[in-house]
Amino acid sequence: MWKRFSRWCNLLLLVAPAAAAPYYAHPGAVHMHTVYSDGSGTFQNLAAAAQAAGLSYIITSDHNTLEPLRDGHQRYWGSVLVLVGTEISTDAGHLLAMDLPADFEWGTRDPQLVIDRVNAAGGFSVLAHPVSERWPWLDWRVRGYAGMEVINLASLMDADLRAVTQIQLPARTLSRLVDLAQRYLRDPDGVMTRFTDNTVDADRTRWDALLRRGQQVAGTAGVDAHARIPAGVTVFHVPTYQEAFESVQTYAVTLAPLRGEAEADRREIYRAYRNGRLFLAYPRVAPAPEFRFTAHEAGREATVGQPIRLEERVRLIVEAPGHPRPVIRLLRDGVEVASAEADRLEWTVTRPGAYRVEVYASQRAGRLFDIRRGLRLPRVDEILRARRRELRPWILSNPIYVRGPGQGAVAPAPLFPPLRAGIPLRRSGPGYAALEAAGICCCSY
Ligand SMILES: [Zn+2]
Ligand SMILES: [Zn+2]
Repeated sequence: MWKRFSRWCNLLLLVAPAAAAPYYAHPGAVHMHTVYSDGSGTFQNLAAAAQAAGLSYIITSDHNTLEPLRDGHQRYWGSVLVLVGTEISTDAGHLLAMDLPADFEWGTRDPQLVIDRVNAAGGFSVLAHPVSERWPWLDWRVRGYAGMEVINLASLMDADLRAVTQIQLPARTLSRLVDLAQRYLRDPDGVMTRFTDNTVDADRTRWDALLRRGQQVAGTAGVDAHARIPAGVTVFHVPTYQEAFESVQTYAVTLAPLRGEAEADRREIYRAYRNGRLFLAYPRVAPAPEFRFTAHEAGREATVGQPIRLEERVRLIVEAPGHPRPVIRLLRDGVEVASAEADRLEWTVTRPGAYRVEVYASQRAGRLFDIRRGLRLPRVDEILRARRRELRPWILSNPIYVRGPGQGAVAPAPLFPPLRAGIPLRRSGPGYAALEAAGICCCSY
């Protein structure tokens, strides 16, 4: 039902933009794999799943190939704009590269060279799952990338599995996976909801560290969908693309409406990504097409991803309608400066910094009533989970960059120290040995 609601809201935004400023929010998904690499779906499958999930656009990222671009798959498929990027394996980790010409070749595994060549070809790059235990980004000296994933659905699922696989007992892991599979068969939405209730703080901690150093870094939410889990000799096509698209979304905020023309709309969506004009949402909590985060001073206005010059005071306004019990947190360079248990927060700031917003949803409301099943009693594990974590993550905005006098809009280079020589580049955490022993293999790119 929310899918129809989401589509309807999006349409409404297109024809009747907010009075204050013409921002258009388009729900979409980025980072997914097809049969061109290790995914199980064709472009037709992905487009159908995206349409069913109410998305306006998707960006694919098959490993180390732009062949789908050469095959003409970048176009509108029905109402969904399908854009083709790639996920490049470098010596420092996986790099999403987008907005590239079809004949682009990077020809190296050196992370800085790859980033430079992507930029020189007119594209841009995003660090994929940079803080994941399994496939972390290892070289933070690099510069010139546009963004990093601050949510990765595959990592959220990993986080859930890791909690039990730390014990490194293959039998225990296997029984846990069988239990998970059984629950998934009974209630796939319940299992996916559980995954997106996980928060991986390390991603945001790293992001905040970059922002504190004055770097402008777009935060994206990767679904990293494959719809393919090989286990021994069997391959499970789970979670499905649609389930992934309904779990984590990246709203692209454009300054002009999409026109239904692939070329023009590609430019609009990619412009939003390059500038971090994005906010990220967990739509299983509620759709978020009307979320707005804006800054105002002396007739000037900015929204997510944009800089605003601080003269005396900047008024920040957060609007998060769509859930009965939202809790808004406003953070400056990663530190909370204000919060409200309401769907609106206004706050005046007099200090420069990167201001971003996290919105949570209280679980207390609606817990007894499940719209899909009607009235029912909550299960014991639900009650326990609600006690443990009453607030579910719902929306994560990109920052508004409040610049002080004399500060330009261009960010200085990152100041991370080089990696110390001799540190082994650890790629697998303790839990993965058990996972692999249970026959669940990992991405081999
Ligand atoms: Zn990857
Ligand atoms: Zn991937």
